[in-house]
Amino acid sequence: MELALKSYTLRLKRTFGISRESYDSQDSLIAALTLDGKTGYGEATSNPYYGITVPGMITEIEGIRAEIAGFDFREPSVFHEFLVDKGLSNFSICALDLAAHDLFGKLQDKPLYEIWGTDISNYPISNYTIGLDSIETMAAKIREKPWPIYKIKLGTDHDLDIVRELRRYTDARFRIDANCAWSAAETIANAPLLKELGVEFLEQPLKADDWEGMEQLAHNSVLPVIADESCIVESDVAACALHFHGINIKLTKCGGLTPALRMISEAKSLGMKVMVGCMTESTVGISAIAQLLPQLDYVDMDGALLLTEDIATGVQIREGGEVIFPRTGGSGVSLIA
Ligand SMILES: [Mg+2]
Repeated sequence: MELALKSYTLRLKRTFGISRESYDSQDSLIAALTLDGKTGYGEATSNPYYGITVPGMITEIEGIRAEIAGFDFREPSVFHEFLVDKGLSNFSICALDLAAHDLFGKLQDKPLYEIWGTDISNYPISNYTIGLDSIETMAAKIREKPWPIYKIKLGTDHDLDIVRELRRYTDARFRIDANCAWSAAETIANAPLLKELGVEFLEQPLKADDWEGMEQLAHNSVLPVIADESCIVESDVAACALHFHGINIKLTKCGGLTPALRMISEAKSLGMKVMVGCMTESTVGISAIAQLLPQLDYVDMDGALLLTEDIATGVQIREGGEVIFPRTGGSGVSLIA
């Protein structure tokens, strides 16, 4: 298999803020794997919270370039196992695993959702994320992007005021993501009013390892709680089942579609809701997430919508959330930049 790596700085339409940081651009690595005249693409973004940089990922992947070139590619999960054995970070594995899946589908001329035996006639609508900012700016973002479901980033000392104010501008469903910024007591106290304001669930209100707090929430929160920072890899799913109503899987954190598929089926067997989220990826990463849609309860795949310029074609999300799947195999990605 022939390997190519390309790095990009994806510019955002607007500054994107969460409780611990804010940014105007997102560095991203695209991996391309070519075999028998077909090329598959995968993506992984940099992430300061997890200590991941694009140069770091390139160094790791370059270290096994010769082995990838000589790899007898038949099936993505076997390739994934080889990457895990090589000790790469999950972010680097994600870029290569997504490329391997896209390639696998293109070689068969079948979209991944079809290879996995799923039907795309029914799928959840993606939320559109409103980053943390001044109330005025957050309200302006809602007014300029009418959408049926918003995920609202919180983590200030006036979070309830923000939600109350935003409710004035839309009847849409709200989801709240506090990115670890709340205490258990605060969450339990906020939940009834948030529920009244049309909030569907709370995503990771507490610190990733605050299991004691999580235990309190599991019994006392009037809103369902979904794990994000507490659910990184496959082995976290079972632990989260005891404390959360569902999990938000990120392909970059868990290491791609191969482990994500296993996490989805494990979470479902444990009676949990399943969401897949994005990390401000371009259409390369989003098209991979979209293949999982029929298997999900919730999805957050608005990453490419937040960019000033996309670098690929593939799965498209129309205004209002309708998803258009390309007629090509794999994730259906082609690079345009
Ligand atoms: Mg989150």
